[in-house]
Amino acid sequence: MFKILLVEDNEMNRDMLTRRLQRKGYEVVIAVDGEVAVRMAQSQAPDLILMDIRLPVMDGWEAMRQIKIMPETRSIPIIALTAHAMAGDMGKCMDAGCDDYDTKPIDLPRLLEKMQALLKDCDSHDKSRTQIMQDRTTRCIPRSQEDTRSGAR
Ligand code: MN
Repeated sequence: MFKILLVEDNEMNRDMLTRRLQRKGYEVVIAVDGEVAVRMAQSQAPDLILMDIRLPVMDGWEAMRQIKIMPETRSIPIIALTAHAMAGDMGKCMDAGCDDYDTKPIDLPRLLEKMQALLKDCDSHDKSRTQIMQDRTTRCIPRSQEDTRSGAR
């Protein structure tokens, strides 16, 4: 069973999405702000993170950056969720290191498709977790770090 970390400060949205994901067979753990999200990404080792952007204490952009910098969490795929379908948000999301992006209100079939695409890697048990982590680490390097690296000497 895949463990999903759902980061959402709105109780109604959170409860609804939690129930719908549980019905689809996912285990759901919850964080209500960005700081808790970073801590839970470390302590819960979820298979995937659904990250709201507008959050108290620490916003979703900053939480994603921190999760994508820490070696133990950087390989966890993140789907950013925002109600603001602003033209710049997609690019900002990718800069922060998210793997995919979707808009609220949630279209569940569409979101599940995106989740399944990112979870496919860990489905094949012949691939070791370490190999998957390495693959993902390569894929998930935030753009800002890649820029730094390619620019270095
Ligand atoms: Mn919010």
